[in-house]
Amino acid sequence: MGRNEQCWCGSGLKYKKCHSDRERQAPINIFEAEQKMIALLREGYCSHPDPDSDPCSPRIIKAHTVQKKGGLAEISEAGHVLTAKPSMKEMMESQGKPSPRKVGVNSASVFPGFCNKHDTALFKPIEGETVSLNKDTAFLFSYRAIAYERFAKEAQLKGISVQRELDRGCSFLLQRMIQTHLKTYESGVKVGMRDVDRWKKQFDERLLSGARDDFHFLAVRFDRILPIVACGAFHPEYDVQGKPLQRLGRNSADYDHITVNVTSLNGQTISVFGWVGSEVGAAGAFASSFARVADGRKADVLLRLLFLQTDNLFLRPSWWESLQTSRRAAFTELMMSGTLTRRRSANEFVDDQESVTSATIVGIDSG
Ligand SMILES: [Zn+2]
Ligand SMILES: [Zn+2]
Repeated sequence: MGRNEQCWCGSGLKYKKCHSDRERQAPINIFEAEQKMIALLREGYCSHPDPDSDPCSPRIIKAHTVQKKGGLAEISEAGHVLTAKPSMKEMMESQGKPSPRKVGVNSASVFPGFCNKHDTALFKPIEGETVSLNKDTAFLFSYRAIAYERFAKEAQLKGISVQRELDRGCSFLLQRMIQTHLKTYESGVKVGMRDVDRWKKQFDERLLSGARDDFHFLAVRFDRILPIVACGAFHPEYDVQGKPLQRLGRNSADYDHITVNVTSLNGQTISVFGWVGSEVGAAGAFASSFARVADGRKADVLLRLLFLQTDNLFLRPSWWESLQTSRRAAFTELMMSGTLTRRRSANEFVDDQESVTSATIVGIDSG
């Protein structure tokens, strides 16, 4: 390969500045690479859609995806909760099956995705001790989840530039394997980025206009505090009985998506699903399948669902520790669903009738 030609790996750099000497380069330390990626994640931005007419304050803050007061505080013990997001070290030490680890409530669930002013102003209606669930408040929960997902997707994309260096010191064959894998991975992340940008745009338009006619929600209130809080969004592929809702393929657009927020208010956990679009599409069908679950099983089904669908979830430490080893292993398996190592399957969504909570329902709101 000519030294001034574009490198074979697709980085866009000249061969001489990229892979020409890679075999002889010092191998990159995987923990250093992780630190570099974490540093990239700290670069934030404000998710507010119209900073021209409503200017940002200068400081981007660590915005909580789950309310710190109430939500995280209610499940924390000695200032800590457990996070399901593994570190590289744990991924390697556990051979890809990491357990939840402790994290302080100040850094749990945060992302630098809003300026101070917009974070405070936008979410004020859902920060109080009591929040009545209606289309306007449910919309704000969903908006926060979508802003978070967009941020997380961009961070994933940025992280690939660091991962491209992981083949330093490797044989040419291994370099090829790593770079080919990253290329496939990158095109998948880019598809995801386009999706999430489209969802965010739908939510932005409705945030600014106040239109809520095609926004729908289902909010379920439990009689106590569940040992879990979460915030995220996903494509519903199966309903909670394992029935297929939409088959996801690459590059095809316009899948239904749904947001989920689980937090607590006034000594009770609330779970809010929200989506833009039809009441009877895949997202609507997903929400109604959850509504149909017997009240006494809803908490367990919700827990299962959160482990399956988001890694932005946080647990009460003593609850996790109190579970039988086999239960913990089962939850850890669910967390790997839909990743490179484990494809989703319908039966993962089916209620296994195991009980890890005994909460029941005190109220359901929808609209
Ligand atoms: Zn290269
Ligand atoms: Zn702002």
